[in-house]
Amino acid sequence: MTHAHHPIDTPPRAPSPVHRFGTLAVHAGSPHDPVTGAVIEAISLSTTFAQTAVGQPVGQYEYTRSANPNRDNFEKAVAALEHARFALAFSSGSATTANILQSLAAGSHVVSVSDVYGGTHRYFTKVAAAHGVQVTFSPSIELDIRELIRPDETKLIWIESPSNPTLSLVDIRAVATVAHQHGILVVVDNTFLSPYVQNPLDHGADIVVHSVTKYINGHSDVLMGAAAFNSPAIHDRLSFLQNAIGAVPSAFDCWLAHRGLKTLHLRAREASTNATAVARALEASPHVVSVNYPGLNSHPHRAIALKQHRNGMGGGMLSFRIRGGQAAAERFCQATQIFTLAESLGGVESLVEVPSSMTHAGIPQEQREAAGVFEDLVRLSCGIEDAEDLRADVLQALEKAVVGPKITNGWNGRA
Ligand SMILES: *Cc1c(COP(=O)(O)O)cnc(C)c1O
Repeated sequence: MTHAHHPIDTPPRAPSPVHRFGTLAVHAGSPHDPVTGAVIEAISLSTTFAQTAVGQPVGQYEYTRSANPNRDNFEKAVAALEHARFALAFSSGSATTANILQSLAAGSHVVSVSDVYGGTHRYFTKVAAAHGVQVTFSPSIELDIRELIRPDETKLIWIESPSNPTLSLVDIRAVATVAHQHGILVVVDNTFLSPYVQNPLDHGADIVVHSVTKYINGHSDVLMGAAAFNSPAIHDRLSFLQNAIGAVPSAFDCWLAHRGLKTLHLRAREASTNATAVARALEASPHVVSVNYPGLNSHPHRAIALKQHRNGMGGGMLSFRIRGGQAAAERFCQATQIFTLAESLGGVESLVEVPSSMTHAGIPQEQREAAGVFEDLVRLSCGIEDAEDLRADVLQALEKAVVGPKITNGWNGRA
């Protein structure tokens, strides 16, 4: 939105980096409408914008794929929350990944953590490879990075921290320090924590990416992605591709996601509190083999969480191995009454799934188990319901899953 004219006397409201997260979430990219004074921006559905003379648009917009008011405002808000100078929104998290990979010349090499999001793994191996970009996966990138870098070829390091679904963490600063000695850019997929819990650019990353579909929108009703960064050169390249490839979100989706973003701090805080309560209950249960949650002191990378996450928070995601194998894992998902059996994460409602047969079914068993994704692994996305209800739901489902008979399909006890 242009700030040039203020026919209605609205006070200056541009939030600055001195403001804290909640203030930025509510106000960044949310100017009053300069004409009507509307506190909430209008949804600008127009695909085209009038010009007074050839090449002289009335305002700053010409055609909605290139830019539109709702996307601009949403991008400003994401940039503020990620401590970035710039942000760009895309039609999905996957489209964000595609645009970044597309920015690499043929012959480029990428080093990635091995347990990346399934769709990212698919893009790296099946799509990027087809345009001449090679990706090497590493299960322990902090240790292997120096060896895996190919002089002149490696252009990008791809990190997901925490990883999905085993919630292992990567020391972003340690990887970025080595990468930058070789002029290599570091990308961090921050979807699992959201900018409220972790700001990768503050730890040396060059680009942070999100599936906005998850925590940033937070209401499981928008598919969108975003990338944020500080470098004007990256901005030039990626905004060119954003327009040229055209995988952009609709104005309506930008408006919805921006509305969701305004409560991100409240939701992420509550989800993290709830996940902590659930993780502790699981850890104390005799029906559980092990719990993966970076908010627990038992987590092998707890020190990284304390360094990289706001107040050492663990976020809203966790996974655990249940006693009784795959059958018990499946029964558990059918026995929960508040957690809904579904893929995805980061919404206000709690979800449960079995990665080995759902989100990660595409990965060969041997590879999957090497990454810790066993058939008895259950993944939980804790929403913002009451912690005590979630804890009780998980405990009653464990009792049914581990000792009970298999519940017949078709009735799962949910409203
Ligand atoms: C969901 C997800 C993606 C892909 O995002 P879409 O919006 O579904 O395309 C990428 N990374 C992570 C970690 C995700 O959870």
